[in-house]
Amino acid sequence: MLKNVSMSSELQHAGRKFLLRVSDILFYRACKMKEKLKQIICEAIDSKKDELNNISQEIWKNPELNFEEFKAHALLTSYLEKEGFEVAKSTPLETSFIARYGKKEGIKVGVICEYDALPGVGHACGHNLIAEAGIGAALGLKAVIDSKPGCNFNLIVYGTPAEEGGGGKCLMIEKGVFNEVDICMMTHPSPYELPSPSSLGVAQYKIVFKGKTAHAAAAPWEGINALDAAVACYNNVSMLRQQMKPTNRIHCTIVDGGERPNIITERAELFYFVRAQTDKEVTGLVERLRACAEGAAQATGCTMAMKQSAPSWSAVNTNEVMIDLYIENAKSLGVSFEDDHAKETFQAATDMGNVSVVKPSIHPYYKIQTEEINHNHGFTKASGSAESQLPTLNSAKSMAMTAIDIVCEEGLLEKVQK
Ligand SMILES: [Zn+2]
Ligand SMILES: [Zn+2]
Repeated sequence: MLKNVSMSSELQHAGRKFLLRVSDILFYRACKMKEKLKQIICEAIDSKKDELNNISQEIWKNPELNFEEFKAHALLTSYLEKEGFEVAKSTPLETSFIARYGKKEGIKVGVICEYDALPGVGHACGHNLIAEAGIGAALGLKAVIDSKPGCNFNLIVYGTPAEEGGGGKCLMIEKGVFNEVDICMMTHPSPYELPSPSSLGVAQYKIVFKGKTAHAAAAPWEGINALDAAVACYNNVSMLRQQMKPTNRIHCTIVDGGERPNIITERAELFYFVRAQTDKEVTGLVERLRACAEGAAQATGCTMAMKQSAPSWSAVNTNEVMIDLYIENAKSLGVSFEDDHAKETFQAATDMGNVSVVKPSIHPYYKIQTEEINHNHGFTKASGSAESQLPTLNSAKSMAMTAIDIVCEEGLLEKVQK
């Protein structure tokens, strides 16, 4: 009897060992498969590097503003069509698109392209490189799908216009565009390698003061000066800044300051961005801006109207599982991550924040060679330089490899979603 017991436990032990070995072999095979697929990605992207550079150069040479990115839209959609993607042009916005590749079953991987520029400074945020990285990642993943891997997934490339203030992604979210996708990724050039940047939520407001015209020399006392109200509001906000948190930001331009010096200004308009780390903080700060504007109106006798001019953006909620994979994949390409000190000061906002609230997402900043920060002429130059190509291709490869980690490892998507 005793002998039988010890025999059966020996058998159980041997069985467990066998199962362990089987799972080891399966794990090893999965790793080998991932390695092979990642190699396919890198080779595919490298083989298309000239075409990718041409795309980014074309967009860079033809900077187009919010919702007017017609040339970039035509260039990207025709290229994806040529590569065999099924492209829905002008969907759901005139200069947005949705391009699909692969059978419909399996995990849906979303890759995002931006391509809008800034007034006066062109591609000073490097969105030409964002488009290139997105298309690059898409070509890498397309090559994997064509190689008929043992895992099922398909690919959706989103062309999202008007990131610079227009909130194209917010409008696309309202139309339910991102509902079907499982994960979303994009990368953004910057002077730093910041995989999980601290990003801010942002709200945009237009403030209009109205007064009364008068001859500025003959009878200025008859007038109510709307420009004075705008200046008072500007100064009120400047004083408020001392009492704001270091992570809060309020900035504006004077859009309308009147017509002629000899006419007391009847109408003045200010355009404000209000930023903070949480949506709640943004709301609180907007109320303090409103008080600044109301005070200015009362002091000058003007009327004041304050209106939100674009959808609010949420802070980016970086998916921790996805970004750890991205970092490992980027490191495997020789990228080093030593810029964490910049995390404290490099505060930006993006409509990708809103995507990250509805879907597991990453929006890492990757480093390009530049002395200047985004939205400067120097950054425009860097965005069009040959030196920016390698980091952009590395970020494209890292995105595509991250997708492969998630689609090839059973249970990883659930972890990401948690
Ligand atoms: Zn920007
Ligand atoms: Zn940008």
